[in-house]
Amino acid sequence: MRRHRRSPASRPCEACGEATSNGKPYCIDHIDRLPEFGAVQGRIAAREAEISTIQRCGARAVDVSGECAREVLSILKDGAMTLKCFRHSLDMPQRVVDALLRALEKAGRLRKLEVEIRGRTEEVVALGDRLAEAS
Ligand SMILES: [Zn+2]
Repeated sequence: MRRHRRSPASRPCEACGEATSNGKPYCIDHIDRLPEFGAVQGRIAAREAEISTIQRCGARAVDVSGECAREVLSILKDGAMTLKCFRHSLDMPQRVVDALLRALEKAGRLRKLEVEIRGRTEEVVALGDRLAEAS
């Protein structure tokens, strides 16, 4: 009788019983059953739904504590950005970016200001509270 030598990390997939790698509870075919995978998928779905709602209804449809707002605020947490750079950093339609900007500005979560950079006036986007700290 041949004995399988099982490394302590190996365990069967909870869905189909196939051996999994690195002690994961699911094999590659059932990786979508992991709870964290579901959470990521849920956030992606929430983001997509928000984007289509904002695209349809504009700034009044923005949830200032939603996924899109979180994404907008997170790219500014390391400092202010020019509006142009800010727009390029977000993978969202222009109309949605502008609606988010307006809604978050109104909510005091971010500020738009004009700064002179190399003789040209640039619009700069910064976090609302960060700006308060600086002034
Ligand atoms: Zn499986």
